[in-house]
Amino acid sequence: MSITHAPPGYQCPMCDLLAGRSTPIDDVRDIVMRAEGAAAFVASQWWPNNPGHVMVVPTGHYENLYSIPAVAYAAVGDLVREVAVAIRATYGCDGVSTRQHNEPAGYQDLWHLHVHVYPRYEGDRLYATQPESGFAALAERQVYAERLRTYFTSSSGSATAAR
Ligand SMILES: [Zn+2]
Repeated sequence: MSITHAPPGYQCPMCDLLAGRSTPIDDVRDIVMRAEGAAAFVASQWWPNNPGHVMVVPTGHYENLYSIPAVAYAAVGDLVREVAVAIRATYGCDGVSTRQHNEPAGYQDLWHLHVHVYPRYEGDRLYATQPESGFAALAERQVYAERLRTYFTSSSGSATAAR
């Protein structure tokens, strides 16, 4: 099924990031893992009680769940699982949640499929809070990126920690 909301000539910021070009929002140094078919990076826009959450994206450009091939989505799912384990092991959190949005009615506003992976804390009210209006500084993001890179480097997962 081909349903798209990307404007004509859309310059995809996720494809830019994956190609090694930092954007006004995301920096290549935010990338913590590159696996076969998927990559993970520390998000720039944070929720107030869940700092350092991670975005997992397919390395190919697919806008939503309707258009991504099953094998490409499997790579995303595998990496989401690995990131969840890494967050749980290194953030000192009490749980992990994921979110994935399709189309504006589904709160999608970035036209490259992505899965948010959030650290969860008792009473954090993730679903009752809004994302911060500004962006976390690169130095703040790097605190979490380093934890994840260190974890992935020392674990024997299938993916390889981004350098
Ligand atoms: Zn893209």
